[in-house]
Amino acid sequence: MDKLFLALAFFYLFIVIIFIGSSQVKDSIIVYADYVPTPSFTNDTPSAFKQLFFSVAQDGENAVSPVTNNGVVFHGSRSDKKVALTFDADMTPWMKEQLLSGAVKSYYNQQLIDYLDQSQTKATLFLTGMWIELYPDAATHLAADPLFELGSHSYSHPSFSGFCYGLAQITQDEKQPEIDKTQQLLVGLTKKQNTLFRFPGGCYAQDEIDLLHKKGLQAIQWDVVGDDGFNDSTQAIVANVLKNVQNGSIIVMHMNGYPNDPKTSDALPEIITTLKLRGYTFVTISELLSQNLTSAKSNELQYLRNYLLSDKQLTKNGV
Ligand SMILES: [Zn+2]
Repeated sequence: MDKLFLALAFFYLFIVIIFIGSSQVKDSIIVYADYVPTPSFTNDTPSAFKQLFFSVAQDGENAVSPVTNNGVVFHGSRSDKKVALTFDADMTPWMKEQLLSGAVKSYYNQQLIDYLDQSQTKATLFLTGMWIELYPDAATHLAADPLFELGSHSYSHPSFSGFCYGLAQITQDEKQPEIDKTQQLLVGLTKKQNTLFRFPGGCYAQDEIDLLHKKGLQAIQWDVVGDDGFNDSTQAIVANVLKNVQNGSIIVMHMNGYPNDPKTSDALPEIITTLKLRGYTFVTISELLSQNLTSAKSNELQYLRNYLLSDKQLTKNGV
């Protein structure tokens, strides 16, 4: 009887330990998922995989520097009320086929760009090379518009690392041309060397970051996800952005329009109006980062000043 009781007691203890252990793991995932920068692709991303990514992705907030995490930008300075809207123009060979066959009318959300123009809102547009080739006139117009900064979103929107929501896998040798082709197209449009790069699906490993740095490119992720891909709820997109924006945020959405991102332009007026009312200023990524450099510089000066003062103080005290 005693043995049975002991066995039952141990069994009960075992169950309790397992329960506490699993609930802690679950809690930590939930908490982590709340502030992890998340990719918004692709439109056919299985939600279970998204959740997995949320739970394992690196968190920009834990970065040593407020600006970058291992050379990747997640957001700008948290001390100023500035935010950067970013819109990705995806284009894969499959999307091109949809377009050319007439199955999809357009992958350019002109309405979105018109609203940014009307409201005089600055934004950064990450264009794939294939999108530029399919929309040369629009790309020329966007490059000439002083409200917009352009960046690269690769050439054909493949995965640069791992499964990445089922995006096309490429070999190591194909990564460089994916970068170079779009750099050439962007130079043709802007007449200057592009420095901004956004990984398709936001997927990368350190090798890819090193490759970008060799090319003079900075990886730009985000800390706020509109989650506008195949999202039919304007209000959900608005809420995704408004509840997560803070000083220095980089917001990711898309400029492909229906059917991939059907409600982005519908959500935009409320997002922009509300954030302006909250006192935020919209800036391009370069402006957001130069602001960081400025505050980094002023922190450095402040440090030097304190150092000199404390040195003088010490001298005065005869130490
Ligand atoms: Zn994309």
